[in-house]
Amino acid sequence: MAMALYTGSLPHAFLFTGHEGTGRRAVAAALAMAANCAQPPRDIVDNEKTDVLSTRPDLLQSCGQCRSCKKIIAGNHPDIHMVEPSGKMIKVDQIRALCRKLALKPYEASTRVAIIAGAQTLNQEAGNTLLKTLEEPPERTVFVLTALQTSDLLPTIVSRCRHLRFAPIPRKLLRRYLENHLGIDSITADVIASMADGSMTQARRMAETNWPEQRKRVIDRMESMTSPGERLVFSESLSRKKEQLPEVFGIMQSWLRDLIVSRIAPAKVIHRDLTDKIERYAPRHRITSLISKINAITIAQQDIQANANVRLTLDALMLSLTTEE
Ligand SMILES: [Zn+2]
Repeated sequence: MAMALYTGSLPHAFLFTGHEGTGRRAVAAALAMAANCAQPPRDIVDNEKTDVLSTRPDLLQSCGQCRSCKKIIAGNHPDIHMVEPSGKMIKVDQIRALCRKLALKPYEASTRVAIIAGAQTLNQEAGNTLLKTLEEPPERTVFVLTALQTSDLLPTIVSRCRHLRFAPIPRKLLRRYLENHLGIDSITADVIASMADGSMTQARRMAETNWPEQRKRVIDRMESMTSPGERLVFSESLSRKKEQLPEVFGIMQSWLRDLIVSRIAPAKVIHRDLTDKIERYAPRHRITSLISKINAITIAQQDIQANANVRLTLDALMLSLTTEE
């Protein structure tokens, strides 16, 4: 990509696929900066190599200091256009409005950038309107589409784009980022990095919302419930915070997993800051029952996604998570 910029053969359209938090938008912004930078640096500076973005093959360079770079960083460059789903979809009116702006001359940029985030939510009509524009692109304009995967898009759109797949960010890099940029201690940073599923956005959010403490509360509650009544109270409180369920399920499963892993491969424990708890609780569970509990959580999660009754599903799940001595 950087090569393409310098040789002046920048494609009209890129498609960045990958999960949330893998850096697709950051690279789109880096692309806009590099394409318009007044003083692009020639070589990668050594200390930049430690930065998460620079470990990507699609690293782009810009000075970050010039007027154009500063405006893009501040999010107020008049020639960088962003379209996002309004509600659940990107509607045809949003694409038409974008096309009207792109039909005019750029204000100041040598290369305009139109970012279409969440392109998998383009409805049929919006997709077809965008396709027409991609077939006859406006001058000095680069499109960047972001999506989860190519199969969610019209094949005719995919074929018009240079496709780059964004892999999950390796755990080591996430950990280093949390330590160096957010001042998180190394053990906690390691736990968060393991749980963030390769997503920078997720890791940052976990670090900023006191996730380590919330996690301890979920684990303590799970391990301390003895009577069916206590289990149903827990289930009731979870059912009121439906949006937090994926996270709570993730904590529960990783905890149960650690109770197994601690006996077989202690070095691979995720919640390594809680080894005293792990040592205390692991002997209380049989491995076969831990495995079936992990499965029960997966099934409950699928049922809830498929619109099963949340409260009933959670009640049944909690009752099935009984500890046997
Ligand atoms: Zn610059």
